[in-house]
Amino acid sequence: MKKIGFIGLGIMGAAMAGHLLDAGFDVSVYNRTKSKADDLVSRGAKWCGSPGACAEGQDVVITIVGYPKDVEQVYFGEDGILARAWAGAYVVDMTTSSPILAERIYAAAKEKGIFAVDAPVTGGDTGARNATLSILVGGDAEAFEALQPVFLAMGKNIVHVGAAGAGQKTKACNQIAIAGALAGVCEAFAYAKASGLDIGKVYEAISQGAAGSFQMNGVAKKGLDGDFRPGFMLKHFGKDLAIATETGTAYGAALPVLGMVLHEVRKMEHGGKGNEGTQALLKYYGVAEP
Ligand code: NAP
Repeated sequence: MKKIGFIGLGIMGAAMAGHLLDAGFDVSVYNRTKSKADDLVSRGAKWCGSPGACAEGQDVVITIVGYPKDVEQVYFGEDGILARAWAGAYVVDMTTSSPILAERIYAAAKEKGIFAVDAPVTGGDTGARNATLSILVGGDAEAFEALQPVFLAMGKNIVHVGAAGAGQKTKACNQIAIAGALAGVCEAFAYAKASGLDIGKVYEAISQGAAGSFQMNGVAKKGLDGDFRPGFMLKHFGKDLAIATETGTAYGAALPVLGMVLHEVRKMEHGGKGNEGTQALLKYYGVAEP
């Protein structure tokens, strides 16, 4: 397992593909905006002109694009991955996408003798840069085992959670937990502001105790410091919460907090904040200036 095609070179993918190069894999790359491949190409990656060209002849094809519609396009499009990947190859979708689409890719790949797994990640842009991602894998156990060297170049906590689609379902659980945690942190600082407290002092006082969390100390702190550049974009958070809502409703789960936070995130997106980081939810709560 030497040759890897890597598709999607954004905040996450560029760093992850870089780790595969550093680990000695022979990496080919494709991205919608070509210039995002420049750095990787200067480090030895080969540029390919389409998803299909990037998939042909590879041992492994990795995708981490934006939305389910992008996943659909790169896998099922005319010059897509499933049209050109060779039998025996492994295709690994690391995008946060729909479990139903993951099951569709698995079935279509199987018909062609291709092994498909869904392997979304958590750990944010920091985890991608430091190769410390958690990787949530759905698919066949044999494929999970075979892909270990590839996963280990990008992540640390690599868990086989079940059959095809289980990785995406687990990622939905992760995003549901984040939604409540982030909204709770924003609400705490809204209370601080409304009651006349100094927000910086409140952060200092409560961030090291039982209320401290990645959402408070790693995400909201950036916003309190006036930095709204994205580690994780609000528009992708909205996409994830919508997937969790749609599928969760179909599975019969009760998700009241998720519904509230999805509404808040959608309002922020409609207000033009979709490309800001998730810490911009502080603006919804009036903690930060719009
Ligand atoms: P991003 O910066 O927008 O990266 C996505 C990349 O995919 C972009 O470079 C985009 O091209 C490319 N792309 C989209 N559709 C494509 C297509 N049809 N063909 C070729 N390339 C295509 O987003 P990101 O933050 O890296 O996130 C990527 C995925 O990981 C999302 O599903 C997100 O929810 C998930 N995720 C993100 C984080 C995080 O902290 N950032 C953490 C965990 C999971 P362009 O350059 O042309 O836009």
